[in-house]
Amino acid sequence: MDDNTTTLARLKQNINSDIFKRSDRNHQRKNIVSDLYRLHEKHKGKLSTSTISYLTKDLDYAIAQNKSRAEQLSQNIYSIIPHSFGDHSKCDLSWCNYHKDPENYKHESLPYGNNLNVEEMFADLSKLFDTYAKNSDKLANCGSSQGNESLNQIIALKAPKAKYFGSSESLPFRVCVGVFQKNEGRSYIPQVYEAHKLSPGKFTVMHTSKIDKKRKHDKVNASNREAKRKRLVKKGKFNLNLKAKEIREGVTYATSISAPAKSSENVEDISHIPDPEPEVTEDPVSLKDETFVYFDLETTGILTKALQNYNIMKNFELKCGGFIYTLSLTKELLPDRKTNKQSYNQESLVKDIVGINYDAHNAIGDVQSLQQLINTLKVSPRILEKHSFSVQYTVYMIS
Ligand SMILES: [Zn+2]
Repeated sequence: MDDNTTTLARLKQNINSDIFKRSDRNHQRKNIVSDLYRLHEKHKGKLSTSTISYLTKDLDYAIAQNKSRAEQLSQNIYSIIPHSFGDHSKCDLSWCNYHKDPENYKHESLPYGNNLNVEEMFADLSKLFDTYAKNSDKLANCGSSQGNESLNQIIALKAPKAKYFGSSESLPFRVCVGVFQKNEGRSYIPQVYEAHKLSPGKFTVMHTSKIDKKRKHDKVNASNREAKRKRLVKKGKFNLNLKAKEIREGVTYATSISAPAKSSENVEDISHIPDPEPEVTEDPVSLKDETFVYFDLETTGILTKALQNYNIMKNFELKCGGFIYTLSLTKELLPDRKTNKQSYNQESLVKDIVGINYDAHNAIGDVQSLQQLINTLKVSPRILEKHSFSVQYTVYMIS
């Protein structure tokens, strides 16, 4: 059960006073994370998000390793904050590696492996973790309400709350179907059709078995270590991306962001829709009497990176107007190849148009045949210009 209802108080009063509540693991975790983020606001620039994820991870481990052992859990929680500030006197040898090699010990997940060291943060964090330690019996006996939430979600789709099905004869069917879907998957749909002497459509059968297969696959993946790690990385990337966007645009979505009390602070951010990011155009180069240099380059990004690394970008730009993208060029010039499903790779283009075979693994052969190809195609400067892009564009793209 989550901590959002008064149901328990009523149950105790009216049914049985021995009933006790187990908190939901995920809700507990969310509460802990939001507590830490409140401190993050207070200690801006000192309590970083990576420190927060380190502390939540420590707490997660402690909770997972001390199921139903409230006393042990409480001791572990008390030692987390001193441990991260470098005091290992209270740490348990089962999880703290400091005592194995005190000289070379580094924290695995704290920035640069260093101890935390901001004094005022220590007081606040200790206070917070002390309250968790005091409530360790609650944390050690967490359950998961995920199964309930998921069934509730399924039934809510079959009998939406916004429509009144409470007195409808269809309600029992709707609930039964929800339960069936939760337990067995969607295979009931073709069966229901058959029972009513209707032939289930080909696509219905295909679709239901596809969804059931995915469900099985997801179920296996949910507990697989590699998949868990992937999910974590994906989440990290999402948050990073979100942070970057919030820096550029300001916060655009948060609980009661446009409520009167808050809107005065954010009035700048929400009353003005920021200008769109300038669209990345390929920035064509104007061609006059240019000399074309044919070069074997798999991607311009590598060249640009190398030029930047050696600080010769400015000089290069003075000499080089830009690049021409030969793939999009040949695609425009030879649209029939697409209809005929012919390849646009250089080897087959040279073979079909210039009429020669060349060794694609030989860089010189490669550039010579490219030159022959472009010459044979007799491309007009206007078309070349259209498929060109400046050196600056490549810099923009790799940054
Ligand atoms: Zn320690």
